[in-house]
Amino acid sequence: MDRVPPSEGGGCPFEPGREHDSRDERYLRRAIALAGEAAAGGDVPVGAVLVVGERSFEGRNEKEQRPDPTAHAEVIAVREAARILGTWRIGGTLYVTKEPCAMCAGAIAAARIERLVFGCADPKGGAVGSVIDVLASGAINHRVSVTAGVLETETAQQLRDYFRAKRVGRTSGAELPPLPVIS
Ligand SMILES: [Zn+2]
Repeated sequence: MDRVPPSEGGGCPFEPGREHDSRDERYLRRAIALAGEAAAGGDVPVGAVLVVGERSFEGRNEKEQRPDPTAHAEVIAVREAARILGTWRIGGTLYVTKEPCAMCAGAIAAARIERLVFGCADPKGGAVGSVIDVLASGAINHRVSVTAGVLETETAQQLRDYFRAKRVGRTSGAELPPLPVIS
């Protein structure tokens, strides 16, 4: 029983890191690596691993690279699982580095995913408790167990580093001479 009622209580909607285990951390670390690949390709670093039985399916944010507004890490992993497994009713556990957006939360419910484990919250666009709570809505007739805040520090730092680097690049990168190559 690791259900964390996302809207219970008045303060933080989550109890960070509650009742997760080393398996959760292992898959989330893989998601962090995928997020790193997304950043290297010019996308916001978000990575996802969907574990169904003995199999796992991976996705990384490719919105800019494709470009495709629906190419979020979670959607890519869900689509890949559906394609390989030959069913839309996927189940399993989805690991993702940050709180899913409204589109991805909808996809998680539509795929009948049983459990969601994510890293840091997204105060601007998070749809699993931060801005809205899609999965807790009475309009969704499928309940997903949610564990939030696993490797919260690392996942938040990865996003901060990405946006900081981007800001630096935008404000002064064009005027700066190229960095010396150190070999
Ligand atoms: Zn999304």
